[in-house]
Order: sequence, then structure tokens, then C-alpha cells
Amino acid sequence: MNKIDDRLKFLHYQIDEDWQHVIVIDEAICQNCHNKQCLTFCPSGVFRENKEKKQPLLILYKQCIECGGCRLICNNIDFSYPKGGYGVLFMEGEEQL
Ligand code: SF4
Ligand code: SF4
Repeated sequence: MNKIDDRLKFLHYQIDEDWQHVIVIDEAICQNCHNKQCLTFCPSGVFRENKEKKQPLLILYKQCIECGGCRLICNNIDFSYPKGGYGVLFMEGEEQL
């Protein structure tokens, strides 16, 4: 297991089933996106390729660690922090790694 996976396993989430805080603004843009840097950039693997033409990406927002990086790499991604009480709750100390 690599370092990032070691760290991610200590995160705890309170999932908001009613609101997806990471979305793609225009899926047509994704269809024509050749680099698809979201697939490799996100440290938590939120963005996955989908075979469906209408919905070229799956967005596994429930495993988002709220680093905010996707806002920087693609202006077709709309990231907001989860509402209060939802999302990443806490991380146990690094000394446990
Ligand atoms: S979200 Fe952005 S980087 Fe990812 S496929 Fe769509 S346009 Fe490309
Ligand atoms: S905020 Fe970070 S972890 Fe969440 S989807 Fe964006 S890049 Fe991935």
C-alpha cells in the first residue's frame, strides 16, 4: 500500500446522500476532453471514466477528501465544501502510520 492510501484509511466521512458537492458543469465538454487530467489528479480517485457517452465521468463524491485541487485543474468542475456536519470529519494522528 502506498503512502497516500495509508493516510486515506484514517479519514472518516459523514456522507450527505442528498447533495453532491462535486459536479461536472457540462458533460459535453468532458466528451471532448483528451487529457482528462481529473482521472489522475484527484488523490482520492473521485473521477472515473464511464462508458456512457451521455455521462462520460462517474463522480464518486462520497470519497472526496476535500483537498480542493480539482478546482485548480479544470474549470469544468464545480467543487464546494460539504455542508456543515458532512464530509471529512477528522483524521487520526500521523504517528499511527
Ligand atoms: S472534468 Fe475536466 S478534466 Fe475531467 S474530463 Fe471533464 S473537462 Fe476533462
Ligand atoms: S476536492 Fe480533492 S479529493 Fe475532492 S474531488 Fe477534488 S481533487 Fe478529488
